[in-house]
Amino acid sequence: LFVQGPLGPGTVIACDRDKTNYLVNVMRLADGAVLHVFDGVNGEWRARLRRAAKKAVELLVEDQVRPQTDASDLWLIFAPLKQARLDYMVQKAVEMGASRLVPVTTRYTQVGRLNLERVSANAIEAAEQCGVLSVTPCDDMKPLPTVLAALPADRLLVFCDEDAAIANPAEALQPFASAPQPLAVLIGPEGGFAPEERAMISKRPRTIALSLGPRILRADTAAVAALAVVQAVLGD
Ligand code: SAM
Repeated sequence: LFVQGPLGPGTVIACDRDKTNYLVNVMRLADGAVLHVFDGVNGEWRARLRRAAKKAVELLVEDQVRPQTDASDLWLIFAPLKQARLDYMVQKAVEMGASRLVPVTTRYTQVGRLNLERVSANAIEAAEQCGVLSVTPCDDMKPLPTVLAALPADRLLVFCDEDAAIANPAEALQPFASAPQPLAVLIGPEGGFAPEERAMISKRPRTIALSLGPRILRADTAAVAALAVVQAVLGD
């Protein structure tokens, strides 16, 4: 269950009405039941359910199950899409193991404002559904050059580009299979990257241009496909 952190031994997590309903009526957990909770930062913890009031329960955090490792430190850098497609892309990206969502504005980004609450709610729902331990809620969108300039040098950038020459992603990513780098996958907006953006991205050292085949995919499809390829080659 995703809960607001920080988590530690003895932390008491008060459950609001929705969470109480989910635990008691949907999951049908009784007093003393033990479940696993995570806050997206501090790994996974065992917590015991107990009555807090007539219609409310709380969770008493006991011990840590799995410390957070950053082996699966996989970022998706994306240009926001129209709502339904964005919902889909965020959910599937987290299911595919994206631990950080980094929205960027590019010359052809068609979306002016990002509903951060909705992005985080989709990411958390997907994380709970597939037991992903860490999904760092995303910041508001920033210009692509700003994000690339801030990206640490050791974060290899996989730049998904329909015009990219490389046909075999596994080959291109192979060098990173042994020591998986923290990795950022970059997907362009529905209108694609502008020429000056392509030039800027390609200039970045250790950037791999990844082709996902000859068809032009929608950005949300390309995001899921690219993350699947990266996980298949470098999966944790
Ligand atoms: N510029 C394209 C066009 O000609 O209209 C549209 C861009 S596509 C809808 C959105 C993004 O998905 C691209 O910027 C790229 O990052 C990714 N993408 C789409 N098809 C791809 C492919 N075959 N290989 C790699 N990336 C792809």
